[in-house]
Amino acid sequence: MPGMPRAVRNRLPSIGSAKGWSSAWQASPALDSPGRSAHIRAMNAPSDNRPYALAESVDPLVRRVLARNPSPFTFTGTQSYIVGAGAEVAVIDPGPDEAEHLEALIETIGEARIVAICCTHTHRDHSPAATVLRERTGAPVIGCAPLTLDDDGPRLDAAFDPSYRPDRVLADGEAISGDGWTLEAVATPGHTSNHLCFALPESGVLFTGDHVMGWSTSVVSPPDGDMTAYLASLQKLHDREDRIYLPAHGPAVDRPRQLVRGMLGHRRSREKQILKQIREGRTRIGDMVPRMYKGVDERLWPAAGRSVHAHLIDLARRGLVREAGEEWQLA
Ligand SMILES: [Zn+2]
Repeated sequence: MPGMPRAVRNRLPSIGSAKGWSSAWQASPALDSPGRSAHIRAMNAPSDNRPYALAESVDPLVRRVLARNPSPFTFTGTQSYIVGAGAEVAVIDPGPDEAEHLEALIETIGEARIVAICCTHTHRDHSPAATVLRERTGAPVIGCAPLTLDDDGPRLDAAFDPSYRPDRVLADGEAISGDGWTLEAVATPGHTSNHLCFALPESGVLFTGDHVMGWSTSVVSPPDGDMTAYLASLQKLHDREDRIYLPAHGPAVDRPRQLVRGMLGHRRSREKQILKQIREGRTRIGDMVPRMYKGVDERLWPAAGRSVHAHLIDLARRGLVREAGEEWQLA
C-alpha cells in the first residue's frame, strides 16, 4: 500500500515527560481517571502523534505495535505486544482486523515463529486479528475462552468478537513458553468474564489487557461485566509482585501496586456515592449518573450507568441494597 508506514524493529521508545502525560490525560474523556491520585509515571507519554503501525521496544523481550483505532474508549488505540527476542515469539492482543496493523505485526515478527497468538479477552478491539493472523501464519490461538453475548455493552468498539475460536484455552496459572520466555495466564474476570492477564516472569511484566490501565478505569458492564469479580481480580493483582504493567491501552504502569490500591479505593468511594444517592432519593441509575459523573463527557454517561449498575448488583449481593423494578433501595 503506497505511503503505508513500515514497521521498524527495535525502535526505542521516547520517554515522555510527566507534563506531557498529564496534559494528554486531561484531554482524554476517560470515564474515570485514577492516575492523578495514584501517581502513575508514564514510560511513554501518549500524544496525538503516537506512531501507528511501528514497532517500539518497551523491554528487551517485548515490542509493541499500536493499532490505528483511537476513540474515547480505546485512548490512542489498541496496543499489541510481541513477546520474545529470539526465533520464537508470542503475540498478545493482535487487535482489530485492520490491514495496516496486521502488516506491521507480520513485518515486526519477521522470520520468527509465532508459538501462540494470545488474547486477553474477546472485545472487538482485541481479538479479531487473531483469526486472520492464524490464517496467514498457521500459528495457534491460545488464551482466553470464547464468549459471545447478545448484550454488547455501551461501546460499539467493545462488542464481542464472534469469530474468535481458540485452539487452546488457558486456565488460571497455566503457562506456555518459547525461546527465552514464559507466559503464564492470570485469570482476571470482571471487565469481561473471560479476561486473562499474562505474566512474563523473565521481565517482571504483567500484560493487563483491559483489566488495569493507567489512563482510565475499566468499563464493567453487566451482564457479562461483574463488579464483584472485578474487585476480586484487582485484589489478586495487588497481592502479586509484578514490576510493571503493560496494558492494551495507554502507557506502561511502573508502580502497579500503587495504581491498583488507588483503583480499589476509587471503587469504594463510588460505592459510598451510590449509597448516598439512594439515601437522598435518587433511586434510578439515570438520576444518579449526572450527579456522580458531573464534568465527565456526556457521551460516556451510558458507560458510566453500566458501571453504576455493576456496583448496585455487587451491593445487592452483599445485602446493602435491593432492586425494586427500575429503582434501587437500601436493604
Ligand atoms: Zn475490553
